[in-house]
Amino acid sequence: MSVSGTINLIWLEGQDCAGCTISTKQASNPTLIDVLVGTIPALGEIRLVFHPTLMPDWGEDAAKVLVDAADGKYDPFVLVLEGAIPDESKAVGGVFCVVGEVGERILKLEDVVRDLSKRCAAAVALGSCASFGGIPHGSPNPTGARGLLDFLGKDWKSGLGLPVVCVPGCPPRPDNIIQALGSLVLVARGVTPVPELDEWHRPKFLYGYTAHELCPICGFYAEGKDAHAFGELGCLGGIGCKGIITNCNASTSWTDGYGGCTRTGVPCFGCADPNFPDPPTSPFFAKAPAMAFVKETFAGNWGHFKMGLARLKRRKI
Ligand code: SF4
Ligand code: SF4
Repeated sequence: MSVSGTINLIWLEGQDCAGCTISTKQASNPTLIDVLVGTIPALGEIRLVFHPTLMPDWGEDAAKVLVDAADGKYDPFVLVLEGAIPDESKAVGGVFCVVGEVGERILKLEDVVRDLSKRCAAAVALGSCASFGGIPHGSPNPTGARGLLDFLGKDWKSGLGLPVVCVPGCPPRPDNIIQALGSLVLVARGVTPVPELDEWHRPKFLYGYTAHELCPICGFYAEGKDAHAFGELGCLGGIGCKGIITNCNASTSWTDGYGGCTRTGVPCFGCADPNFPDPPTSPFFAKAPAMAFVKETFAGNWGHFKMGLARLKRRKI
């Protein structure tokens, strides 16, 4: 099945800080504007019909979009969730998360997500909170926060037959957001096949490697040169880097070739990991589990040995 006309985006914010939205606005390859004004012909027309932080409408006019969407007025649409979903059955004498009001009706996030999930073409969990619960889900998790993957289940399928797609990070790298959303629009248009997902429903083309494998300062690790304090040149593993246990490409650069966590001297704190912010990603400045480094050392030694042997052979030109 492929979609030819306008594809609408309905972007909800639950238990979040709007950091994923800010990150989205920093995307460079392509930019959010490129996507929305049609600079990329294969994407076709995309309309952002609901976004609590970016849309000009407010109050009941804005909330009505959600009610109409549940009735089919905005089909086909991609549901984007930023932020975790609290468990309203744990709210005593109140409500944890409301996304709007229409007349006397209070729109709880939990109900809106459930209603929209019944007709969305695809559903994307943006950021670690929406993917796996993230910071609101951290122990002792008083609101029963969970991500979209837990809420809808690993077997859930969208109108296009797709599972929940997770784009974790706190926030995710800007280009990861746009490229993940863009790839799903291309799937909906029938241009590209469904991207391969890993066991945590992350697109492998974005999350297929650890921050350590992609780390631009991994040469220090190979040389055994550790940084012992912030600002010192060296591998950051001794001051808490969790890159060795975290699948993320943000260590390479943050946006447009600039920034990047370990590249700028910041130890990875595992914000894209499904366990974040609980152990083993925390305490943030404690070292990653030693076993991860032991395994990496054995793999690394074997890799060095193989590379050495490969260099002994003459190259045929
Ligand atoms: S431990 Fe961290 S800083 Fe050191 S090489 Fe791995 S990712 Fe880079
Ligand atoms: S490299 Fe680590 S800290 Fe940086 S965004 Fe990725 S998971 Fe988060």
